[in-house]
Amino acid sequence: MKFLNGERLKVILSTNCSKVVLFDEGNILSNLHFVMFSMPGFSQQSYDKIHGFKFEKIVKNMLEIKQNFRSAGFIGMFILAFHIYQFNVNEIQPAAEFAGQNQFEFVPFLAFINDFQRQLKYMRNELDDHELKRASQKLFLYYFSEDRKKQRPQNYVCPQFSKLAIDEHCNIITCCGDTTPMDKLFNVRPDDVNRWRMSSKVCRECREAGLDFLVMPPPMENVLTFQPQPDLF
Ligand code: SF4
Repeated sequence: MKFLNGERLKVILSTNCSKVVLFDEGNILSNLHFVMFSMPGFSQQSYDKIHGFKFEKIVKNMLEIKQNFRSAGFIGMFILAFHIYQFNVNEIQPAAEFAGQNQFEFVPFLAFINDFQRQLKYMRNELDDHELKRASQKLFLYYFSEDRKKQRPQNYVCPQFSKLAIDEHCNIITCCGDTTPMDKLFNVRPDDVNRWRMSSKVCRECREAGLDFLVMPPPMENVLTFQPQPDLF
C-alpha cells in the first residue's frame, strides 16, 4: 500500500474475508478507492457448498476489516458483492439487509464458472458430463448463450483492458479470470500491456468465444425490494 500510494495509483481491494489484514498507520489507506467483500451466499449451508469457510467468522472478519480500515484513513465505499447461485436466492434479501445495516453498498450478480479454461469448454460444448451436471445444478448460465454473444459490438473492448491485474508474484497477467495463466510478464512498460494482451493466446480465445462480453452478466435491478442505505461515514 505504501508503494502504491507513492505511485499515486488508485487501488481496489477484493477479499472473501477468510483472513484479516489490519493496518495500523493513520492514512495509509487514503488512496484506496473501494473495498469489495465477495460472498457466495449468506448462510453456513451456502459457504459449505463453495469454500467451506465458517460463515460466522467471515461476517466477524468483515466487520473487523471495516472498523480497522476506517481508522487507517479509508473513506471510500465498502461493497458487498453477492454471488447468486441457484441454492442461495433466498439469501439475497437477508444479505441486502445486513449490507444496509452496515452501510455497505449491495451488489448482487450471477456467479459463473470462475475458471477460464472450463468456461471456454462450456462455450465450446466440451465440458464433460460431470462438470456440466455440477454447473447446471449451481449456476444460472442462460446468459452464456449464442444469442447474447451476437450482441457483442464489433468494436467492443474488454473492460479489463483499462485495469491492471497482478498475481501474487508481481507478474502482470491478462486478467484475474485467467486462473492458471500461461502468459505473464514481469518487466514491461505500461504502454505495452494492452498490446501484449491483444496478441496473447488467452485473450484471443476469450474474444473468439465472446467471453470478454458474456462474463458481464445482465443487470440485476429487480432482485431486491430492499434499498441499501448510503455509506454514512
Ligand atoms: S480478453 Fe478475456 S482473458 Fe483477455 S483480459 Fe479480457 S476477459 Fe481477460
